[in-house]
Amino acid sequence: MKRALFLLSSCSIVLVGFAALAETDSTTLECRKSATFLAPIDSPDYRKYAPDREVEVLHLALDVTPDFKRRAVSGKATLQFKPIVKPVREIRLDAVDLSVEDVTSTERIRNYQVTEDNIVVTFVDEIPPNKEASVIVTYHAEPTEGLYFRTPEMGYKEGDTHLFTQGEEIEARHWYPCFDSPNMKFTSEITCRIPDGMTSISNGRLVSQEKDPNTGLMVFHWSLEKPHANYLISLCAGYFKKVEDKFRDIPIAFYTPASEINEAQTSFRDTKDMLTFFEKEIGVSYPWAKYDQVCVNDFVEGGMENTSCTTLTDNTLFTDATENIRNSEGLVAHEMAHQWFGDLVTCKDWSQIWLNESFATYYETLYNEHKNGRDNMLYELYGRARQITGITNDINAIVRRNYDNSHEMFSYLAYPKGGWVLHMLRAQLGPDLYRRCIKTYLERHEYGNVVTDDLRSVIEELSGRSFDQFFDQWLYHGRQPQLDVTYSWEENTKLAKLTIRQTQKVDENVVLFNFPLTIRFKGKSGATDKQITVKEKEEDFYFPLDAAPEIVRVDPEYTLLAKTTFRLPTSMLYAQLADKTDSIGRLLAIEQLGEKKDKETIAKLKKTLNEDGFYGVRIEAARALRSIHLDDALEALVDSKKQSDARVRNEVVADIADFYAETAYKSDLETLGKEKNPDITASAIRGLGGYSKSEVHDALIKFLNSESYRNELAAAAIGGIRSQDDPVYIAPLLENLTEHRDSYTSRGYAQGLSVVAYLARNEEKKDVVRKFLMDHVNDEKKTVQRAAISALGTLGDPQAIAVLQTFATASKETPERSAAERAITDLRSGRKPVDDFKNLRQEVLELQKTNRELRKELDTLKKTTEAKAGTTPTDKAKKKGSSSKK
Ligand SMILES: [Zn+2]
Repeated sequence: MKRALFLLSSCSIVLVGFAALAETDSTTLECRKSATFLAPIDSPDYRKYAPDREVEVLHLALDVTPDFKRRAVSGKATLQFKPIVKPVREIRLDAVDLSVEDVTSTERIRNYQVTEDNIVVTFVDEIPPNKEASVIVTYHAEPTEGLYFRTPEMGYKEGDTHLFTQGEEIEARHWYPCFDSPNMKFTSEITCRIPDGMTSISNGRLVSQEKDPNTGLMVFHWSLEKPHANYLISLCAGYFKKVEDKFRDIPIAFYTPASEINEAQTSFRDTKDMLTFFEKEIGVSYPWAKYDQVCVNDFVEGGMENTSCTTLTDNTLFTDATENIRNSEGLVAHEMAHQWFGDLVTCKDWSQIWLNESFATYYETLYNEHKNGRDNMLYELYGRARQITGITNDINAIVRRNYDNSHEMFSYLAYPKGGWVLHMLRAQLGPDLYRRCIKTYLERHEYGNVVTDDLRSVIEELSGRSFDQFFDQWLYHGRQPQLDVTYSWEENTKLAKLTIRQTQKVDENVVLFNFPLTIRFKGKSGATDKQITVKEKEEDFYFPLDAAPEIVRVDPEYTLLAKTTFRLPTSMLYAQLADKTDSIGRLLAIEQLGEKKDKETIAKLKKTLNEDGFYGVRIEAARALRSIHLDDALEALVDSKKQSDARVRNEVVADIADFYAETAYKSDLETLGKEKNPDITASAIRGLGGYSKSEVHDALIKFLNSESYRNELAAAAIGGIRSQDDPVYIAPLLENLTEHRDSYTSRGYAQGLSVVAYLARNEEKKDVVRKFLMDHVNDEKKTVQRAAISALGTLGDPQAIAVLQTFATASKETPERSAAERAITDLRSGRKPVDDFKNLRQEVLELQKTNRELRKELDTLKKTTEAKAGTTPTDKAKKKGSSSKK
């Protein structure tokens, strides 16, 4: 599964394909994690284990009739099972908020009891081991989880009416009774009865589709004839349209709500190529009868790998006008890889979730390499490594049992970090042996459950090596090596010396790491690789070379996850930046050069931004210029706006917008006048927000009321308006939100609510805004409802407290309740949002001015000193170069 929360992080930044953006927001993850409380260490709930399997579940048959008007479902669930070893007198089904009408069975039932979480069925006689039995539960439900409606009454387009389900981790029990644990796998079939004109999509193959003459409803019968886990059961039904194709003889299709079908093809386009690639890379044929992908409105996750029918957020849809800024490659590849990793073999319990998520994440990366080339793959790994090593306060291991809530396990540890672990495994085994190991692992455990040791034992068996230490340090302990590397050259002995220190805090949670490492020296006579093993806290390594190297690279093939500090003299960084064969080396050089302030470095970065062969390096060069933040750097960015690659052009525009200067402002206006790409235009609109000029006001109002795909330009204008922080925008914003609600996505509209509250927070009279927000506190769109509740906290009008109380005192823990609790706290404490942009902007402008003046003085001082000493800048550069080789 891919969390919707990951995707939300993309709102104001460049959409570099879902893979790259999806998992950049570690702060969100961290916040979520700290919000949960682990059971006390002396409590039995402190560690979590898979439940016993008293029965083997053989088959689930669901027959459901949704009622779109009432947002309810009536159904009949038939569960076939057999006791494994012990005779069984009672079974306990997971079921929440189901109204049970009747329970029958092939066995004689003494009674059944419906509790808050279960249906407990007691039989008259014990069912002996291996005897097959069934229970049939007839029920109806108005689910608030597990099954979601999207209907016109809720504010969705009438012609797009649909429903979808979400099982992972334990939501399925809200719409049908089940054995809801990943360590039970069974075959399944779903019969769905829906109005004529609607279509349904579910697991497996479509057995039949016919009209029921008695009810007039269309009856779709789906069947999955291979076992899978309960959380992968899926049903989508409604007014969908599709594009379709075939992969070998396997039907593949991509569905969207009817009104969005024009955007389907761009997201679908790689599906066939991916299936071909994955079959070859994984070595196991696609395991299911068909592959459908269904986009739904306001999906509760980013994507969900339901067996043979993935569900996707419709945020993944995009238009061609955005050029290459957006794509669905990462998301589509991720969910497809799960069809093997997660669906064919399934983690036994949530402590092992990395066996699903890391593989899905890493195979996205492998597909990226296949489609876009090795540099793209490395850049993806680079982004993920920065995300992982940027998290400083988490000592949790990837595999652990001390979690409070299964939700917690779906963190950066299971996704990017686990993906990196697989990358390291592949590097240590070599791609061929790695591939054989993975193929064997899948074949040995197909249609079954796996734990981490299943993977380790296959690898050990096929490689003949012990992987105990590898798994111990990377999977059962936390963090990664934090390396401090220093380099020096001994001219007399012709020895290069590297001192490597592991500086991570070592304790019971984090070990001293042991890993192979390559050091590459590059000079006039070519490249030399030296292999070492790092295992000490600190160790010196000496390497005899013919001459002092021009470039020293630690881990040149990028096969180690570590936070490495390796400071190098500027001349060596320049050499590394110029090395066309080494994209990671160039990215690492840029990191250090971005901390410098001299003209030569700015010129080199500008050259890189305009001439480097790889777009990722060009993007990072632009970011480095932004972080240097001097007039010269701004000038370099403004001179570099002509970029044929839209991703780089967008980055440059966003980086320029980060400067508050007249040049930046003019450049922004120029972009707005010329640019055709809506995403880049949106970056420029947001950039306007920082300037208090009357023409900015007019431009923002113009874009606020403009028409664009999903109203994205208006949403960008709302972002700019927030930065303006001027109550003059309240009236036009309210008017716009009232009149154009349907043009916005739920997220865009929700942002509108929060901005209008922000603008009005210091106003004397808040009645109009309060009333507007109150009209949304019961909104059927959850995103909008939560935004309205939070916005009331921002607005700071005590008259809203009574309404907020009604949510805050709800007995059930929901996101709405949490939002209301926070809003009340904000209101009572009179807390104001701290990001008072207006004053901050003024301060920044003044600081920049002072900075410029200081630099001028410094430059003059330097020039006079140099003139007195009789050195020229060229001499100095030469000197620096030679001194580094001492
Ligand atoms: Zn996933």
